[in-house]
Amino acid sequence: MKIVQNIYALADCNNFYASCERIFNPKLKGVPVVVLSNNDGIVIARSNEAKAIGIPMAAPAFKNRELFEKYGVKVFSSNYAFYGDMSARVMDILTEFTPELEIYSIDEAFLRLNGFEKMNLLNYAQQIRRAVIRWTGIPLSIGIGPTKTLAKIANRIAKKNPKYDGVFNIINHPECDKILDSIEVGDVWGIGPRYSKLLRKHNILTALQLRDTSDNWIKENLTVVGLRTVWELQGKPCIELEKAPPAKKCITSSRSFGEAVETLDKLKEAAASYMTRAAAKLRNQHSLASFIQIYITTNRFKDVPQYSKSLTVKLPIPTASTSELVRTANQALDKIYKTGYKYKKTGVILGGIISDKQMQPDLFMTLYSDSQYSKLMKTVDEINSRWGRHTVKLATIGFKHSWTMRQAMRSPRYTTRWDEIKVINI
Ligand SMILES: [Mg+2]
Repeated sequence: MKIVQNIYALADCNNFYASCERIFNPKLKGVPVVVLSNNDGIVIARSNEAKAIGIPMAAPAFKNRELFEKYGVKVFSSNYAFYGDMSARVMDILTEFTPELEIYSIDEAFLRLNGFEKMNLLNYAQQIRRAVIRWTGIPLSIGIGPTKTLAKIANRIAKKNPKYDGVFNIINHPECDKILDSIEVGDVWGIGPRYSKLLRKHNILTALQLRDTSDNWIKENLTVVGLRTVWELQGKPCIELEKAPPAKKCITSSRSFGEAVETLDKLKEAAASYMTRAAAKLRNQHSLASFIQIYITTNRFKDVPQYSKSLTVKLPIPTASTSELVRTANQALDKIYKTGYKYKKTGVILGGIISDKQMQPDLFMTLYSDSQYSKLMKTVDEINSRWGRHTVKLATIGFKHSWTMRQAMRSPRYTTRWDEIKVINI
């Protein structure tokens, strides 16, 4: 018998955003549901029923109105506060089943199940599935494999074939080769469009063919990154579980406006709001930024006078203080703003990111960690994490926002806002 040292499971929520919409709205069961991107632009999530009708991913909403109407498709704006909270709940449940977990995306996590080999893994995975659906209402599929890449493939099988009831284990599976032969090479985790094209050109069309290609050829054409994928397909783990995501080298926050913005004040409000979010992320990863960049742009897809400009400003000392970062952004905006344009978007970027422990003190400056700002920000973060994101904020952000995203069809934020909690009338 082959000995398997590593057992990875990929738990992936089915049609996550569409499934979230169904939790508090049982009328949506069995009905086609789609969720739109920011500003209600394109389709970013589809329920199985919506897929069956043939609504493609990334379909522009305005071009598909008739189709939506014809099939009674329920259309929603994205509700990230709600999806994010549901995601945290799902991940919380998963951690009860293994101490080793990597949150890979909003709706996917890798679990390492080493040490669980004595158990019936399929049963264990079913237990996990049942717990998640009972406690959150979110259906999920679980694929099990000796490597992360094979767990991904197993997950695909679990999801696509109803007969497996949402769980598939590819470890020592007698039909492993047949399964790999049914997976297109471009669908293998880590094979992007560029590699996929190259492999096809050389007649390597399936995961099986990729697995059986010589190391030398792969190394020459796909570098060691591709070689890792091939070894993973052979069952040799090369991609470790990342329990803590690496600190980001650059943090961006930007959004298109729901309606065009013309005044400097409104631009400053939006920039302050994005900067507040970016600064909180910065502090959360215990980092400081050395410079900021800000940009403003008109809508280049519209026939209006065009203007876009960005400016990078070095900070006197690396900081994570929201008020300092917003002040710098405002000064930059004063310099690049021009009247007479309809702005579509602004964004901020924090760069030159260093660890907050990495700063070399200097006789003439106060480090961020020793400054009043640092204490103030700590307090603000604590209050906001306890009472909600905008409990304490800078006045610059303002109160009435004409520029916020268009989200005409957003469902209530059931789980994160007291005033939007589900009411049941009996
Ligand atoms: Mg998913």
